[in-house]
Amino acid sequence: MSRTRREFFTMATGSALALSGVKFSNSGQMPGRPASGNVAQDRDFSNVMAIAAHPGDAFFAMGAPVAVATHSGGRGSFLSLSLGERGSSVISPEQYGSAQRQAAEKAAGLLAAKALFLSYPDGEIPVNDKAKFAVCDLIREHKPSTIVTHWKGSWHKDHRACYEIVQDAVFYAGLPAIARKLPAHNVAKQFFADNWEDASEFVADTYLDITPVFDDWLKACELFPMWRGETGFRYNDYYSSRAVTQGCLSNFKRAVALMSPEGQSTRHIPTS
Ligand SMILES: [Zn+2]
Repeated sequence: MSRTRREFFTMATGSALALSGVKFSNSGQMPGRPASGNVAQDRDFSNVMAIAAHPGDAFFAMGAPVAVATHSGGRGSFLSLSLGERGSSVISPEQYGSAQRQAAEKAAGLLAAKALFLSYPDGEIPVNDKAKFAVCDLIREHKPSTIVTHWKGSWHKDHRACYEIVQDAVFYAGLPAIARKLPAHNVAKQFFADNWEDASEFVADTYLDITPVFDDWLKACELFPMWRGETGFRYNDYYSSRAVTQGCLSNFKRAVALMSPEGQSTRHIPTS
């Protein structure tokens, strides 16, 4: 996909489809102006899996697209490769990890999604085939149509590791010749999330309307102590105002920006 092309997705309210976004081709459209042009039903948000290094990333940077899926009758899941248990300077990793897990389970429940975990140590997520196949197996089990994950342009090593793991896990999951317990599953789309820690060379090409899920998504995020800035970064202010800013750019009230992998085709989007 051209880096200059932008896609705009919004909820198709009143649609008979279990889930549908509407994609507006953006030829000639200025940010902030009403979207126009070709309209296509998009079913790629029918089952969204967020795959993150840490629970906070999964919910703060990737949670709204998952909420969009479940809000429209689709399915959603949050996979955290680690519990982010070393994120507190006040309480022990054991206690903090347990609190993170509980918050993630509660937040996922609030969004009618599943919370999934792999138990790699925070800060030491390994990039190896064991981790890639573990993620591959979860992809085959939960069958996401779309995966939202980290962009590689991150200063955080776990985030870069997650990016690497997911790229190969998606490949392994879709290859029938790779025999695992479950049959192959092809992930139709992948997006990289707009994450303050992964901003190097992040270029948004897609905007997703999150207006209908904005309040519930915030409630889910509020279950994490770090959302309120207790670990030093004001996640609440950043991500809630970011949704407003991205909404201004896409002419939605609230939106998240996403980045597509180089060369990702839009052929999976059927034209209505
Ligand atoms: Zn993180």
